[in-house]
Amino acid sequence: MTAFLSLGGNLGNTREIFEQTYPLIEKKIGQILQKSSLYQTAAWGMTDQADFLNQVIEIETTQNPKEILTNLLAIELHFGRVRDIKWGPRSIDLDLLLFGNQQVNTPHLTVPHPRIQDRKFILIPLVEIAPNTLHPILRKSVKELLALTTDTSTVTLIQHL
Ligand code: ADP
Ligand code: MG
Repeated sequence: MTAFLSLGGNLGNTREIFEQTYPLIEKKIGQILQKSSLYQTAAWGMTDQADFLNQVIEIETTQNPKEILTNLLAIELHFGRVRDIKWGPRSIDLDLLLFGNQQVNTPHLTVPHPRIQDRKFILIPLVEIAPNTLHPILRKSVKELLALTTDTSTVTLIQHL
């Protein structure tokens, strides 16, 4: 199955943490097929904090969404993420954005991730690597979702592939 993950962080050396995250994803979840560029974004939600670095990657995995989430949370903990302030600073935030065209709705896991369409820092890197991917609920491509989003924040490309 093909899935898309998002990486975000604004605490510590985020580029280095991302570099260390890739082999952990490959070891614990599946092969990385594509990585977007890195993007810098002003903090969303709680705005009085450092800018974020964001990236979207595509993976190939034999795991189910629940297993993927468990492994993402384990990787977050490896980098010392403490879940204290909602939308506050974090060393790394790993989200499962899309899992093929499947839907999951459980108390701890919602797929597609419910805020894809509201976040340019997700849509822009997603469009970079997979513009025609269809959102299975909204029934639009991610390219169309980017054109329609109401998010007005500035997302800046900081590093090419
Ligand atoms: P956010 O990513 O929205 O900033 P958190 O990273 O603190 O917030 O996530 C809190 C919880 O969201 C996780 O513990 C997880 O159980 C739940 N969650 C629900 N759906 C997803 C998803 N698709 N990807 C990642 N986490 C999810
Ligand atoms: Mg998260």
